[in-house]
Amino acid sequence: MNYTLNHVEIRDAVSKLCLKFDGKYWQNCDKNNSYPTEFVNALTEAGYLSALIPEEYGGLGLSLSVGVAILEEIHKSGCNAAACHAQMYTMGTLLRHGSEDQKQKYLPEIAKGNLRLQAFGVTEPTSGSDTTSLKCNAVKKGDFYHINGQKIWTSRAEHSDLLLLLARTTPKEKVTKRTDGLSVFIVNLKEVPKNTITIKPIRTMMNHSTTEIFFDNLPVPKRNLIGEEGKGFKYILSGMNAERILIAAECIGDAKWFINKASKYSSEREIFGRPIGKNQGIQFPIARSYSLMRAAELMLNEATNLFDKGLNPGEEANLSKLLSADAQWAAAEACIQTFGGFGFAEEYDIERKYREARLYQVAPISTNMILSYIAEHVLKMPRSY
Ligand SMILES: Cc1cc2nc3c(=O)[nH]c(=O)nc-3n(C[C@H](O)[C@H](O)[C@H](O)COP(=O)(O)OP(=O)(O)OC[C@H]3O[C@@H](n4cnc5c(N)ncnc54)[C@H](O)[C@@H]3O)c2cc1C
Repeated sequence: MNYTLNHVEIRDAVSKLCLKFDGKYWQNCDKNNSYPTEFVNALTEAGYLSALIPEEYGGLGLSLSVGVAILEEIHKSGCNAAACHAQMYTMGTLLRHGSEDQKQKYLPEIAKGNLRLQAFGVTEPTSGSDTTSLKCNAVKKGDFYHINGQKIWTSRAEHSDLLLLLARTTPKEKVTKRTDGLSVFIVNLKEVPKNTITIKPIRTMMNHSTTEIFFDNLPVPKRNLIGEEGKGFKYILSGMNAERILIAAECIGDAKWFINKASKYSSEREIFGRPIGKNQGIQFPIARSYSLMRAAELMLNEATNLFDKGLNPGEEANLSKLLSADAQWAAAEACIQTFGGFGFAEEYDIERKYREARLYQVAPISTNMILSYIAEHVLKMPRSY
């Protein structure tokens, strides 16, 4: 089932690489809650994680549509890019808003795979979806900013050299626009003074290497501020379209995986003397999720094309993420139901993929927040917050 005609060669190469990382590999990582280092190294060596870094900084300089193809294939093959997808797009903030010195310093090393920039610290326990209320603060003292506060759900922090951090540089009560007063920093996690940072893993329903981070007077050099002080929220927002599009591609890949598994299994499994797939009660949810997936895929293609033309497809990127996550979840439901009891057995991989798929209704942005964006920014309805 390959409906997409674009980037066929790269898709083939990615799916060949993924063959080396079968269900057993992912089951082991899941069981041990371990990071899929070999898989991430293989993607890095093949250059896929630096696909979007411009050639002048040592990357492949490819379009977002290639990133979409890579992530979709990974998920369609039954693998999971969540361990490293941020390496592909987190650098976008640095690329668009960093100084030439910062880009020269970090991007070529990220492209070579010598530095990992795949931790992104925005969410906090008390402010959650209300990002502009975040409290983690950065106070300027001499040549440094001193960071104090807490982040939560900072995924891959233990497997990243660099952390892209959003912190408050002006107290909320002193800003005229609520989106001002936040700044973005690059934190080198390998060069922090003792006891200034504590990273605690959070066990979750799927293997995701996520953490909470506590900052205690962490000094970050002034030269690590990205762009202008106080404008960080805008810089983070400017990377959201790419992130939503790339995550939507993963959802489409997962949906294809579930649909493929369910349609095959239902054609082979015989109960009451005939394949269960002959029953329309089994066929229809699979066919419906396929329809949802195809429609979501069209929206994803639309968003990607607009993005690659240099436009700002906020509506299409949000719709892609919403529709793809819904199609993925419908396919996950149809698949686990089709497998009956076996859907719950580890060795079939369905239950693992099912647990992994559920995340995309909540993160990196929850479905409610996308609906709110569509209601308020696209349909111009009154703002609710
Ligand atoms: C496994 C995992 C990995 C993550 N990785 C990262 C990461 O690497 N970096 C990072 O910064 N964050 C990360 N996140 C955080 C993620 O982006 C947030 O969980 C998500 O944005 C929702 O925030 P919250 O959990 O605080 O929920 P809350 O903001 O507390 O919201 C709870 C629920 O209420 C709904 N809600 C809240 N306000 C409204 C409203 N006004 N109208 C309607 N509904 C509303 C939300 O949509 C949600 O469903 C991760 C989360 C998870 C679970």
